[in-house]
Amino acid sequence: MANQDALQRRGLMFILSSPSGAGKTTISHMLLMADEEVKLSVSATTRPRRPGEVDGVDYHFVSDEKFDRMIAEDEFYEWATVFGYRYGTPKGYIRKGLKEGQDFLFDIDWQGTQQLYQKDQQDVVSVFILPPSLAELRRRLESRGQDSGEVIDTRMERARGEISHWAEYDYVVVNDDVDQCFVKVREILHAERMRRTRQTGLIPFVRTLME
Ligand code: 5GP
Repeated sequence: MANQDALQRRGLMFILSSPSGAGKTTISHMLLMADEEVKLSVSATTRPRRPGEVDGVDYHFVSDEKFDRMIAEDEFYEWATVFGYRYGTPKGYIRKGLKEGQDFLFDIDWQGTQQLYQKDQQDVVSVFILPPSLAELRRRLESRGQDSGEVIDTRMERARGEISHWAEYDYVVVNDDVDQCFVKVREILHAERMRRTRQTGLIPFVRTLME
């Protein structure tokens, strides 16, 4: 049993989205370190591996042909083209995990979030992380020292596009301070676990309580 709650419950699909540089990756890592009940959903992608990324851990890096095959064989919960490459969530182990009470963390964009909502609304909880300002977002992208000014301009343009989807999310958190933002995200997860409809063990529990 994946969760240690007293009562049996269904797992949830916890989605974190944000424009690049708003802190989503840091918050995701903090959550995975702090909470044993949540596992990262590892997506498949046609994007080339970046230095430091590990196949099967960060992503399943696949060819275009393999991605086509996975679509044809209906292996994806959702998939989307993001900035020229395809990304998709393999569904098999997620469906099984949810039933067993396993929570999954998704680092996916707004297109994937919409698709998961359409397929499985009751299991999805989505959080959008906003930067405190666009100036601060630019400052964070520049301080990484990874990209040229031109690439940063492109990222800023994309950030505006992504931010425009904020209202499609259940929760919105401004990442002014990463530790405070993390606490808020974790509180959302904790509260959502307690939602009555997820607690599949409640009916037998209350029945016994009343006997
Ligand atoms: P990156 O290439 O920087 O790792 O990710 C680029 C974008 O693709 C990010 O916004 C990330 O959230 C999104 N992404 C990663 N995996 C998936 C996925 O499986 N489905 C969808 N829809 N988006 C994804």
